[in-house]
Amino acid sequence: MRIDLHTHSSVSDGTDSPSQLMHRAAAAGVDVVALTDHDATAGWAQAAREVAATGVHLVRGAELSCSADGISVHLLCLLHDPEVPELRAEMQQARQSREDRAQVMVERIAVDYPMTFRDVLDQAAHGATIGRPHIADAMVALGYMPDRGAAFARVLASDGPYYVRHYVQDVRAAVQRVRAAGGVPILAHPRAASRGRVIADEVIAELAQVGLAGLEVDHRDQDTAARTHLRALAADLGLLVTGASDYHGQGKENRLGENTTDPEVFARILEQGRLEVVRPPRT
Ligand code: AMP
Ligand code: ZN
Ligand code: FE
Ligand code: FE
Repeated sequence: MRIDLHTHSSVSDGTDSPSQLMHRAAAAGVDVVALTDHDATAGWAQAAREVAATGVHLVRGAELSCSADGISVHLLCLLHDPEVPELRAEMQQARQSREDRAQVMVERIAVDYPMTFRDVLDQAAHGATIGRPHIADAMVALGYMPDRGAAFARVLASDGPYYVRHYVQDVRAAVQRVRAAGGVPILAHPRAASRGRVIADEVIAELAQVGLAGLEVDHRDQDTAARTHLRALAADLGLLVTGASDYHGQGKENRLGENTTDPEVFARILEQGRLEVVRPPRT
């Protein structure tokens, strides 16, 4: 069983549609995939429709934009009930704020690289959660940058002059909201140092007390030392350990199934989640 619990589609900043993602997962030999678009669940239905054709089991999830005392934190939310109003409203607010923020970033960038917000929307699927990768794609389309990576390095960095924040939930409240909606909260790439400041172990311990289920340890942005540290911390705190690709299609080098989650850990996650995995019909 190859289980990949963190991927993105064009419903956020991935480049594959949810349907294409399922077919690519099958081609990559992945048996279980979690679709975890940024602050969005709009891809679930399309992905679920491809379960029978691909034989790939689908875990319905999302990656929530959060912060802990000003430090950006991503929280994976797996198998939650999407109708629960509190969590739903938070995701809606994050999406709206991301769009407003992208418009302000584009106004700033346009001083040096003439472009409009329309150029950004042209790079995103209808209704998609807008992220910096879409601004990057617009700059590539306009010939300013060779690829997404260059746009992030030269223009979009969070410590750069064009950066604007967007609304995020406090991660402690988010863990509780995810549990209240029957979801399984797992900290995404908690020690991905390349992304800027990371939260302290004490904060992770606090989150464990309010319901955090696990830590994403095997992720390409975490080196061996970071993974060893996180594994020990998870053992101390009684947290599950997951691994995943954080696949974004052509937008990043991450390959489906490059990191995976142990089937026994996956069984624990299933026990805790309110939704079922979408499985192919028995024949
Ligand atoms: P945002 O969500 O708008 O803050 O943008 C952050 C997203 O951009 C993350 O989800 C990353 O997956 C993606 N990202 C960050 N750095 C890069 C990079 N160098 N190349 C491509 N995508 C990136
Ligand atoms: Zn992303
Ligand atoms: Fe993330
Ligand atoms: Fe992600």
